[in-house]
Amino acid sequence: MPYSVAGLWAYARQDATVDSTYQLADVFFEKNKPVEYNDPGVFGFSVYIWNENYTDNIARQVKAEYPDCLIVYGGPQVPKFEDHSWWTEHPYVDVVIFGEGEVAFKKILQANNKQEIAEIVNSSVNINGAWTHNWSNDKRKTRQMNLADLPSPYLEDIMPEVQSHYAMLFETNRGCPYACTFCDWGGLTYSKLVNHDMDRLREEIEYAGRNKIGFLYSVDANFGIMKQRDEQIADWIIETKAKYGYPKTFFVNWAKNANEDILRIAKKMYDAGLIKSFIMSLQTLTEPALEYIKRDNMDINEYDYFARRCAEIGLPFDCEMIIGNPGETVDTWKDAYLTITEYQELSTYLYPLSLLPNAEISTPENRDRFGFTTTRKPFPGVLHEDTQETIEMVTSTNWLLEDELKYIWEWTWTTRLGHEYNLTRDIADFMKENKICSKLEFYDRFYNFIRNEPGVIHNAFMFAKSRIDNHIFGLASQSLGFREKLTVEKREQTFVEISNFLYTFDLDKELHDELIKFCEARLYNPDAEYPMTKTFNYNIVNKQRNKLNMPVEVEFTPTLFGANATTAQIFLEGNMENWKAQTGLTCTLNKPTIIS
Ligand code: SF4
Repeated sequence: MPYSVAGLWAYARQDATVDSTYQLADVFFEKNKPVEYNDPGVFGFSVYIWNENYTDNIARQVKAEYPDCLIVYGGPQVPKFEDHSWWTEHPYVDVVIFGEGEVAFKKILQANNKQEIAEIVNSSVNINGAWTHNWSNDKRKTRQMNLADLPSPYLEDIMPEVQSHYAMLFETNRGCPYACTFCDWGGLTYSKLVNHDMDRLREEIEYAGRNKIGFLYSVDANFGIMKQRDEQIADWIIETKAKYGYPKTFFVNWAKNANEDILRIAKKMYDAGLIKSFIMSLQTLTEPALEYIKRDNMDINEYDYFARRCAEIGLPFDCEMIIGNPGETVDTWKDAYLTITEYQELSTYLYPLSLLPNAEISTPENRDRFGFTTTRKPFPGVLHEDTQETIEMVTSTNWLLEDELKYIWEWTWTTRLGHEYNLTRDIADFMKENKICSKLEFYDRFYNFIRNEPGVIHNAFMFAKSRIDNHIFGLASQSLGFREKLTVEKREQTFVEISNFLYTFDLDKELHDELIKFCEARLYNPDAEYPMTKTFNYNIVNKQRNKLNMPVEVEFTPTLFGANATTAQIFLEGNMENWKAQTGLTCTLNKPTIIS
């Protein structure tokens, strides 16, 4: 739902002159519906990566039809560099506002001419083809310090009638105490946190429940950072779900100073079915890279503490990583990935390093310092829409040649299949434990095998590789349909191929067969009946290499370890009746228990 633009109007119309002078024609936000207008006086746009070209098309069209209409752009997408070509490429835009927009938008509506608008701090104004820039980095002048001044667009009834597929954006505070260099948002508001009033938040949560809104999407940068307050908010959401059955799911960016309090809040929400896992944003484990992206001071880098605690309290946890950070090499990445995936409960979300226009990492100085080469590629979030949007992807750095970066993506695809998606996890662990080969050697050999040996795994890999070759890294890591194909449809063939790979090691034939049998039993099978029992001549549960005198009987029961749910899946689950996560238990591990 169009929280930001509706919020601007909710604030501006409090002014009597604005209220009597202007009438809100509509809030347009669904791209699949036509934007209809009739002689507009002001057209405001919130511009970000998913609607930049779409917005430009509409703004150009409105200006052509109504040259006197004031076209106003806000949002993080306009590059805040005076000598950028954007300014000459957008003659149809009249005003650009940077940073929080409520006060500025109201002043624009109050102004008598463009010269008055040019007085607004953090504005740029197009006066007869020449742009004025009135920018300030002094956040004391530009931050909205009292959020109580901002009416809720939900409670003010400005929002369009709620539809079941809408996601409700939910803001409990503004600001972020960090300054990650790849982020175009935290950097803009980098400073003290300011909070919305608790009464307002309680009413908004009630609004979500009453209006049967399935997906509540928190736009806080660090939910849980205000421990007691955020726990109260979480409790209200849980109570509201219990009362109305809505919201069904909650998307959240957790605080980076994660601790027991945050884990407690997350566990409550998990138990209430509101979240699927506790997601940590790690981005990398490599020290120089953490310094270059300015995340070296975060508690969350102590990921092993959270991994262990999550396992103890039964809270699935996932982590987000960025591939291609400055300071990352092929070796540091492999090390980081193999370290993080030690935990069988965990799944990763892998993103390519991209350069957003106003992120610190994108300045000309940093591009030069880190040796970035880049290319523009379609933005994956809106691939199926008529207007394509693009994103600037990093293709090489001072630490990674272009072919090395591609190799990382390919190697990660195969290693992820084996270890994170559990096709060969137990074999690799067994090999390492019994000093047959290191995990790194195992997965280097697995990569070479998949790359070169024809078969169903090779075919899935080659499809991902074609995207990687074309720098479409995000889709290569986020398209997961092959998992069902390999582990359900072509399960038998997949394990034949894994068995062939295992023959490249000099193992006793019986041990070889037991390892394959154990891995197959560990990987959830929708066609099997659980609990499922199998007998083994080796105690592979405890990774023992020697043959036993007596076979052991092992019972396998499903777990959610390794379930990988994307934001899109969480959204669907929140908004479609009877929708069940398609991936369900695909590639999750069954728990083995020796019963005799
Ligand atoms: S990535 Fe998150 S934590 Fe870092 S600056 Fe941006 S909003 Fe803040």
